[in-house]
Amino acid sequence: MKKEYSMYIAETPYEATHPKALAIYCSDGRFTTAVEELLRHLGHERLDTLTMPGGPALLNFWTASILDADQVGRASQFLIRGHGIEQVVLLAHAGCGYYRQRFPGRASAEVKQTQLDDLRVAARALASARRDLDITLYYASPVDGKVRFDPVDLAISRVSENKILRELSVPSAAPEAPATP
Ligand SMILES: [Zn+2]
Repeated sequence: MKKEYSMYIAETPYEATHPKALAIYCSDGRFTTAVEELLRHLGHERLDTLTMPGGPALLNFWTASILDADQVGRASQFLIRGHGIEQVVLLAHAGCGYYRQRFPGRASAEVKQTQLDDLRVAARALASARRDLDITLYYASPVDGKVRFDPVDLAISRVSENKILRELSVPSAAPEAPATP
């Protein structure tokens, strides 16, 4: 027999103003509550979220696809501009099924490196959305029954950058042109 559902009023009060933070992370529910706690730790009681398998990976068209990167990029920009987002938190996590499926057989250390670079590429993709946008990167991993968040610096390693450029078949940046008087 079909279960009957009745009206429910949540205890959580409705707040009409938009949160100032946006978290972009994987749909994997094993991390959801911990991510919300991290955002509270960062000073955000409430947050906008953009979750899909792989999270920020979808913003790198080399890891995902041009179509995914375009769609997720536009969705992110919509939230940042439309909701007045001031801080974006991009998160990757250990044991991500999206990466396992996308890169079968790749060693876990290499997968992690790809995830870290995807965070950095995603940060670059979003940086233009708003001047003075605060973009913060974290790598989440389970440690002793808890979720640990390690901050990730924004700089893409030269080796990774060359690799990404090679994969994209994009010529390396030309030397800077001399300044015109
Ligand atoms: Zn995942």
